Amino acid sequence: MKPDYDILIIGGGMVGASLGIALGGSDLSVGVVESVPYGDTRQPSYDDRTVALAYGSQRIFSALGVWESLQAASGVTAIRRIHVSDRGHFGFTHLDARVAGVEALGYVVENRVLGAVLNARLRATSGVELLQPATLKTADFAGDCASVEIDHAGSARKLTARLVVAADGGDSAVRTESGIAVRRVDYRQTAVVTNVTVEHPHQGTAYERFTADGPLALLPMSQNRCSVVWSLPPERAEAVLALPDAAFLDRLQDGFGRRLGRFIKSGVRRSYVLALTRVAEHVRPRLVLIGNAAHTLHPVAGQGFNLGLRDVAALAEVLADARCQGEDLGSVGVLRTYADWRRRDNLAVSRFTDGLVRLFSNSFAPLVIARNLGLVAVDLIPGIKRGLVYRTMGLAGRLPRLARGLPLS
Ligand SMILES: Cc1cc2nc3c(=O)[nH]c(=O)nc-3n(C[C@H](O)[C@H](O)[C@H](O)COP(=O)(O)OP(=O)(O)OC[C@H]3O[C@@H](n4cnc5c(N)ncnc54)[C@H](O)[C@@H]3O)c2cc1C
Repeated sequence: MKPDYDILIIGGGMVGASLGIALGGSDLSVGVVESVPYGDTRQPSYDDRTVALAYGSQRIFSALGVWESLQAASGVTAIRRIHVSDRGHFGFTHLDARVAGVEALGYVVENRVLGAVLNARLRATSGVELLQPATLKTADFAGDCASVEIDHAGSARKLTARLVVAADGGDSAVRTESGIAVRRVDYRQTAVVTNVTVEHPHQGTAYERFTADGPLALLPMSQNRCSVVWSLPPERAEAVLALPDAAFLDRLQDGFGRRLGRFIKSGVRRSYVLALTRVAEHVRPRLVLIGNAAHTLHPVAGQGFNLGLRDVAALAEVLADARCQGEDLGSVGVLRTYADWRRRDNLAVSRFTDGLVRLFSNSFAPLVIARNLGLVAVDLIPGIKRGLVYRTMGLAGRLPRLARGLPLS
């Protein structure tokens, strides 16, 4: 029996939409199931946050033809330098785009802008059908095809596919349906997210400041604003969220210092509970988990979506190659190739971000001295700095063709 789709992607957020675009325009038939109606402001992926896109992610979007549209829409700011410091201690380091001989280490993009561009592109991509609003209810992976039940605009529908891709976020319903185990470590931190207008020009510098409460990041945005991601213990986050704007700016100024002068104005505040999650299996016959459905990270160092986009680029390449060789796209052999490729990057990035959070939240004096010496060493030893710059830029390890700026096939 011929299935309804070759590939059915559940979740049309940042990762699912990117995969739909990457697979579109070929002879594959692709369906994307997204539960939130088009243009709805409650879309969880395209909300008030910004995303720090690594240089490698910019190359993937360039190869997909998305980057030009992103640049044309306002809301993209280059990161030329990253300044890392440990509040109240001597250590600091800075990474500069010039070390890597590039114009920017990455780009800050507003999630809503990214959502509008990805959605428009997905709708215009041939071979892709967007089912929206549609929510996955059940899934069955036994047999020659996967079959799922969805609620599509109030009507129940059954769909079949050679392969189901779970891109439905941290609370993945597909993952639950498959019974794949997930390990979750609660950071006991909540990220308070907003943007602030600052007094001095930010000059494209991103700041990561480790404080006793948790990491505080300021990313450069348009109109001399900075996007703020302030990780705090839940009770402090609640208190900070409840403050009037002026008192909030004072608290933030106290945590960050005066490097950017006075904080003048703040935007809407939102909060996110932070946890590290890892799945026991990334693939099963007829199923693959990508993006937040497979891994969530602490936002320190802004790596989560970048990791998810590399999942997209690698999966699209493996599937394009398998298609050329006439292989079954949902077979374990094909999916193992993907899982084996992605294991190292997934593990390295989650260990890197988790390690940073743990290292800088520890007040044990010898460790504090060691980490500050570490920051100084990064600043003084070019080899260490170059390695860190390459990881931050998303250029470490074996890169998919799209991340090297090449077409899929
Ligand atoms: C505070 C904060 C700051 C961050 N900053 C950065 C950063 O600077 N850089 C970076 O790289 N990463 C960052 N991240 C991580 C980034 O936000 C995530 O990696 C990214 O959102 C993952 O995208 P996703 O598409 O996998 O999942 P999601 O964004 O969760 O999207 C899932 C999609 O699936 C849909 N869906 C859910 N359930 C169903 C269902 N049953 N049926 C159909 N559709 C469904 C949802 O509506 C949604 O559209 C940050 C995260 C946080 C919390």
